[in-house]
Amino acid sequence: MTAPPTNADLFEAAQRVIPGGVNSPVRAFGSVGGTPYFVARAEGPYVFDVEGRRYLDFVQSYGAIILGHAHPAVTEAVAKAAADGTSYGAPTQREVLLAELIAEAAPGVEQVRLTSSGTEATMTAVRLARGFTERSRIVKFAGCYHGHADALLAAGGSGVATLGLSGSAGVPPSAVADTVVVPYNVVPALDEETAAVVVEPVAANMGLVPPVPGFLEGLRHACDEAGALLIFDEVITGFRLGRGGAAERYGVTPDISCFGKVIGGGLPIGALGARTEIMQTLAPTGPVYQAGTLSGNPLATAAGLAALEQLTPAAYAELEARASRFADGARDALADAGFDAAVCQVGTLVGLYCGAGPDAGRLPVDYDDARTTDEQAYARLHAELLARGVAFAPGAYEAIFVGLAHTPDVIDDAVASIADAATAAELRG
Ligand SMILES: *Cc1c(COP(=O)(O)O)cnc(C)c1O
Repeated sequence: MTAPPTNADLFEAAQRVIPGGVNSPVRAFGSVGGTPYFVARAEGPYVFDVEGRRYLDFVQSYGAIILGHAHPAVTEAVAKAAADGTSYGAPTQREVLLAELIAEAAPGVEQVRLTSSGTEATMTAVRLARGFTERSRIVKFAGCYHGHADALLAAGGSGVATLGLSGSAGVPPSAVADTVVVPYNVVPALDEETAAVVVEPVAANMGLVPPVPGFLEGLRHACDEAGALLIFDEVITGFRLGRGGAAERYGVTPDISCFGKVIGGGLPIGALGARTEIMQTLAPTGPVYQAGTLSGNPLATAAGLAALEQLTPAAYAELEARASRFADGARDALADAGFDAAVCQVGTLVGLYCGAGPDAGRLPVDYDDARTTDEQAYARLHAELLARGVAFAPGAYEAIFVGLAHTPDVIDDAVASIADAATAAELRG
């Protein structure tokens, strides 16, 4: 009998057939070092690797999971849907139900188009804005990540930040000629050539950077003045900050909203929504083409509907309380260990910024600030946490995802491990 493969065995095999051994760059542990764990299964707040090790997981599929892994409501809905077939190339009732639910919850959304990823949602939002306004220019903010479409990758945060690239090879200058990159949290001057301003209303791909008071309101005003559309990329914040996402939390209504992650219950999905007048510009009612073989997929919509059904106002209140318990506990644990880091919280979202310096209360407000994060210190903390069975994302610019499976006891366990790990990481530093 041959022994089951180890993480190292699988990573070696993976690197032979998959570039870097992974299907999304940050998973390769390039910026934190070490061998990625290969997941065999997951349950609630935990993932288990192929060697049988258990990790208390704060990656949570980068925010796609909010109820915890393998939540029975989701797995049962998926199993039931799968038995009826996995894709048809014809419309289904669940697509209608999910679109209705999103339109009901998201400010400014009357119609919805489902896609298979967040990248497709933002890509389509840009094309739609350009088609609707008959203008070309897109304004984006440094450090905001909107997926990997050419026009939006410049100064993209997330994995692009950890790779130290400003954009990507293979993106010709012509593809970004109409993309203007400006600093986050400053309202840019817009002119009559601007089709849209696209923004993460709470930036969650350069660590966690909240909008300063007046920023989102200022964008709304500037877009209205210039006749440009305001696109909120709520792929992380949508149905995570609350049912109405950041738009509801900050009371600013965008023209187009993009969703992903939570709305698929852990299956591949994306969506964009807007008022009917804008959405009718999409094919087949309008001239802006967009399509997808697996869009509105039966399993993804089943999982999404099952997840969203659990996300009541009470669930969000509980999730926010859990996030606070985690953020406060982690902040104290890091300070007691003398580990130089600041913890930021926006509602249900938490971020960590290493190397805040003596002025630990000062959190980043833009990408220039965020990039001063001490990546080495984060890597040390990440390794010490992993050794204690706690998984943070293998990159210093990712948010920390607390979910509804992170019970108060689980959070207290995590905080105890953070105290321990931070002391060890500080000694090594
Ligand atoms: C994850 C993410 C995307 C891209 O979604 P994918 O499903 O990975 O393509 C877009 N925007 C934001 C804000 C994201 O966090």
